[in-house]
Amino acid sequence: MTQDEVLNIFRQSGALLEGHFRLTSGLHSDRYLQCALVLQHPLQAGALGAALAARMCALIGKPDFVIAPALGGILVAHEVAREVGVRGLFAERQEGVLQLRRGFRIEPGEKAFVVEDVVTTGGSTKETMDVVTRAGGIVLAAGSLIDRTGGRADLGVPRVALAVLDIPAFPPEECPLCRTGSQAIKPGSR
Ligand code: ZN
Repeated sequence: MTQDEVLNIFRQSGALLEGHFRLTSGLHSDRYLQCALVLQHPLQAGALGAALAARMCALIGKPDFVIAPALGGILVAHEVAREVGVRGLFAERQEGVLQLRRGFRIEPGEKAFVVEDVVTTGGSTKETMDVVTRAGGIVLAAGSLIDRTGGRADLGVPRVALAVLDIPAFPPEECPLCRTGSQAIKPGSR
């Protein structure tokens, strides 16, 4: 699956909007991503998960399990794990710290793929990697459907993304789109 094919799947479900947006952070941007809108379609979620699994396995071999941070990564871990034929786990926050709950177990020496829907800073992937290593597991690679850092996030392990985007965001007073007279809209409001 090429980057264009991936982005077209996102566009078709409204998960990637192009225009002039006011983000929750208050910053303005020319693109808006909402992965849940593509992952709500099981066929698309399955196709994207299978493509990510294939790319990661070709790069580094098969893991013993796949793990993601909740909530955004859960469906991605599930679909990647389905394709590889291994367990799909998720870590969730308790008192602000990601951890394994619900009886999920990682045996010492087990090898993991850590996946997410979108890498924005790499922070959640890194925290999930720490969950794996604290339990004695080994992180083989990190993967995401979209990397919106332009490939800059360094996680210390091989990384795979189906699409790499560089999406700058600006304070309104510095926004080049505002300067052209265009009005920023809140995503989902049209
Ligand atoms: Zn603007």
